[in-house]
Amino acid sequence: KKMSGAEIREAFLSFFESQGHRRLPSSSLVPEDPTVLLTIAGMLQFKPVFLGQAPRKVPTATTTQKCVRTNDIANVGVTARHHTFFEMLGNFSFGDYFKEQAIRWAWELSTGVFGLPAERVWVSVYEEDEEAEAIWRDVVGVAPERIKRMGAADNFWSSGPTGPCGPCSELYYDFHPERGTEGASLEDDSRFIEFYNLVFMQLNRKPDGSLEPLAAKNIDTGMGLERMAQILQGVPNDYETDLIFPIVQKAASIADIDYHTAPPATKTALKVIGDHTRAVTYMLSDGVTPSNTGRGYVLRRLLRRVVMKGRLLGIRDVFTPSVAAVAVGLSGPCDPAVERNAQRIYDELAREEGLFVATLERGQKQLDELLEKAAAGGSGSGVIGGADAFMLYDTFGFPLELTQELAEARGVGVDVAGFEGEMEAQRQRSKDSRETVDLTAQAGLAQLAAQVGPTSFTGYSTTRGGGRVV
Ligand code: ATP
Ligand code: MG
Ligand code: MG
Ligand code: MG
Repeated sequence: KKMSGAEIREAFLSFFESQGHRRLPSSSLVPEDPTVLLTIAGMLQFKPVFLGQAPRKVPTATTTQKCVRTNDIANVGVTARHHTFFEMLGNFSFGDYFKEQAIRWAWELSTGVFGLPAERVWVSVYEEDEEAEAIWRDVVGVAPERIKRMGAADNFWSSGPTGPCGPCSELYYDFHPERGTEGASLEDDSRFIEFYNLVFMQLNRKPDGSLEPLAAKNIDTGMGLERMAQILQGVPNDYETDLIFPIVQKAASIADIDYHTAPPATKTALKVIGDHTRAVTYMLSDGVTPSNTGRGYVLRRLLRRVVMKGRLLGIRDVFTPSVAAVAVGLSGPCDPAVERNAQRIYDELAREEGLFVATLERGQKQLDELLEKAAAGGSGSGVIGGADAFMLYDTFGFPLELTQELAEARGVGVDVAGFEGEMEAQRQRSKDSRETVDLTAQAGLAQLAAQVGPTSFTGYSTTRGGGRVV
């Protein structure tokens, strides 16, 4: 029998409870830590303990943590495993157990509790962490060809230029063992999925850059709940697990689409709706409200992206509250507060969606006129100028992608280079561009965080990077 998402969550938490860990609640998506905009990992609520700034309350703990990662926005619905909102299961040691114990439990949990076949689990270690490699090989018994060394970019954790840091070791699941071990790369996501990351906080980096051993060594781990559900439920991506699929299905039914026979672009749009609806539901529940700065801006962009995708699928009525209702219905075991906040969530969604749709409809009128002119300009060879495409974006919030899609349907092109030129010119004009929020895939969260302050956001006109937020 396949494990449900709720069963996977419970199995993880109770496994570590039975090993003496205290089960603690998820912290809010709005972190106490001022250096990040939104909670991005399970360790965030424990950061002061790890950094030695606060005493530990318990020696070991386990949580399921609500997370939002805006740096993965462009991957949503594109890769099989990335979300903006997801739950990170974690086990933590605050100067208690260390590397060997963490590795043994990770293995016992993965192969015992979750029943993954041993030969399907591959691991990565930091290239200089011979200790971890030896534990995996000699203590756990993982075949050497399934242990991969990786560099610092992937497998060395630090929270800043100085302070506690250390090597990581990740567990991957192999969907295609028949492809053999020769030349296999864990970065090949048609074959492997990373599901569990173990951080061994064992070093302290001093201001001169040198490393010294930490007196109290810590363990910080993260397992993606949706990813484990994908693996155990035998579905092709996280979106089709019982944790998310009902939301996707709700959107599909409103749009009168059969998900399973829909073309890939339609599936992607439905996945984006499913993902972002979860994110905005939990963000609203945690007290974030739509605005033009900081996390309110993240919320606004996510919601607008849902509305946009819905329109591209032919939905014309206000629909986000009814899709969110499905997310609320699934939220209980993750966060009981969401149900209590449900009415407020629906009200805010309806209000914000209504405002956005009104703007869009004004823009649509403009676009229709432009399309008529362009089409008349020469039997289907017309083009929407860069300045006009930019005006639609700047004034009416029409992302370039939407303009292109609507234009294409009428056999009209869009001057993309011209649009980008206008964007660049706008960027140059705006003195405040450093204070705006960048949602491109590359934009680091730290960068977002630096912008949360009392900034004077001036609207779409100053967004940078041209991140494809639809
Ligand atoms: P990836 O390489 O796949 O982007 P990551 O290395 O960035 O993942 P970590 O920062 O190590 O992820 O986070 C710990 C775990 O949380 C991952 O092993 C994964 O299971 C899960 N996770 C991370 N990012 C996401 C995401 N965007 N959506 C869903 N799960 C995620
Ligand atoms: Mg990542
Ligand atoms: Mg990774
Ligand atoms: Mg990782």
